Amino acid sequence: MSGGEHYRTTSSLDARAAALNEAFDGLTAERMLDRLLNGNAAGRVAVVSSFGAEAAVLLKLVADKDPSTPVVFLDTLKHFDETLDYVDSLMERLGLTTLLRVRPSPARLLAEDPDGTLNLRDSDRCCYVRKTLPMITALRHFDAILTGRKRFQTVERQQMDYVEVQESWLRINPLADWSKEQIDAFIAKHDLPPNPLVAQGYPSIGCAPCTVKSDSYRDGRWADSDKSECGIHITEDGKIVQIGANQSAVSQD
Ligand code: SF4
Repeated sequence: MSGGEHYRTTSSLDARAAALNEAFDGLTAERMLDRLLNGNAAGRVAVVSSFGAEAAVLLKLVADKDPSTPVVFLDTLKHFDETLDYVDSLMERLGLTTLLRVRPSPARLLAEDPDGTLNLRDSDRCCYVRKTLPMITALRHFDAILTGRKRFQTVERQQMDYVEVQESWLRINPLADWSKEQIDAFIAKHDLPPNPLVAQGYPSIGCAPCTVKSDSYRDGRWADSDKSECGIHITEDGKIVQIGANQSAVSQD
């Protein structure tokens, strides 16, 4: 029996999340990551990164603890070329050695988005096909994922815990209580290269068709709709999103 299977059968994920939240209370992000990556506090852990505007912060913290930590990048096949180049350059710069590129199923794309315009007709469905399904498949290999989500980013994230339950794994947000000022100071201190799109006026970066230049954080995503969170982390409790009948979704960034 693997460590992950043992972990899931001996303790419910809710209880495990509660215990970790208690254990992490008052700890710095560095201490949390030390327990997770060097102390095996949550089993098999991967960091999930969109390689967006502030992705370098969490990736730097992870690299300092264990540069072999798997880094999952969801390549929706709709990213800016600048983001794809940034993935490779930042991995190399930080000395991270394990990149897992997760892509949508070609068969599913052929069936549901053959001309690549599904995002214009049904953005929730597009996120489901290009993000949710591939990530659910990829993340089942892990007990916990690390994200760079912060409470200040959106209204939906203001009550976010350090550790949440999502599908069959834990979602851990070591930077949850970091402010924008802390993020900027960390980037400056370590001279971390930003996603080059930041200099072009994109404060929050996702798929190219759904990202626009903006002065505010999430106004730059799905600017012409009420959608403020990608379909894969749309709920307040961060567990499962019901996009349509019998569909569920998970978070990635
Ligand atoms: S962010 Fe836009 S292009 Fe990307 S998967 Fe969602 S709807 Fe499709």
